[in-house]
Amino acid sequence: MKLVDIEKIRVSLGSASVLGLGRIAKFKSPPTTCYIMTYKDGHCIANCGFCPQARSSRSSEELLSRVSWPVYNFNEFLSKLKYLNSSKKFKRVCVQTLNYPENFIDLIEIITQIRHNTDIPISVAIPPMSKEKLKKLKTVGVQRVGIALDGATPDIFNKVKGSDVNGPYRWDQHIEKLIEALTIFSEGFVSTHIIIGLGETEREIIERIIELNSLNILVSLFAFTPIKGTKFESKKQPSLLSFRKMQLGRYLIVNEDKKLKDFTFNLKGNLINFNINKIELHNIIYSTDAFLTSGCPGCNRPYYTSKPSGPIYNYPRMLNEYEKQEIYKILINEVN
Ligand code: SF4
Repeated sequence: MKLVDIEKIRVSLGSASVLGLGRIAKFKSPPTTCYIMTYKDGHCIANCGFCPQARSSRSSEELLSRVSWPVYNFNEFLSKLKYLNSSKKFKRVCVQTLNYPENFIDLIEIITQIRHNTDIPISVAIPPMSKEKLKKLKTVGVQRVGIALDGATPDIFNKVKGSDVNGPYRWDQHIEKLIEALTIFSEGFVSTHIIIGLGETEREIIERIIELNSLNILVSLFAFTPIKGTKFESKKQPSLLSFRKMQLGRYLIVNEDKKLKDFTFNLKGNLINFNINKIELHNIIYSTDAFLTSGCPGCNRPYYTSKPSGPIYNYPRMLNEYEKQEIYKILINEVN
């Protein structure tokens, strides 16, 4: 039985372009995941300082990060998804869920309808929810769940999305809900992300990745991106060097089981040395995906935090030789 009729859905511009919704130019690096967002009239009830959807943001309701999410008819979206040419088929559908009183009912109906029309794996990015709601999400077909920490420390979290910005979120509750989600979705099927460049130190980020990874929570990284009309519109993006160090650090922790002792920091908390040699660094850059968008399998999020003209923080596609050389040059001075 339907709980609610979903009439509208937001679809990221890149996903809409792949689906052929309207006349949108093709993207140079098309999304490999279909990104959609729950539709609500007005902004989210939360107030995250970086987010155009935040309650007190003056940004367009069409934005999430720097990407546009136009509104489409939900049935038209479903039909395009169902009949998409197999050569364009998405690897995943990811549903971004705003915080508002009816979000769970909407989410259940959106997932149920997608599940009836396609067998593509489904991820949801949600605010913290009760165990019962998480169980229901799994029952209707959600494969993976993400609850964003955004801030690397309780203090940053508070300043960015907690009580300092009159937001509803609390660090302890987010951690508790992430751990609870692990009891419903298997280990490795629960994820979170950290935004780099919100005032934390590199040491704090590395320590947090180690902690979350040890809990079997998948951590992905985004570069802070200032959006006009948000509380943090005047803040700067992190330096490319700092972001590359964190991408490499994440790769070493998640894929090579490196520990805190494998990183050296100065007194300010800057990462000044990795416990790898030049050959290892070269091999990681040239033969792994350490600098691609990190997230659920199949997620590439093109242009989410980077302008198409660059610099590219998370690569949505394999790096070319020139890009590999550039990253090697940037990092080589930091290693040994
Ligand atoms: S909960 Fe999500 S959509 Fe709402 S303000 Fe925070 S980041 Fe934006």
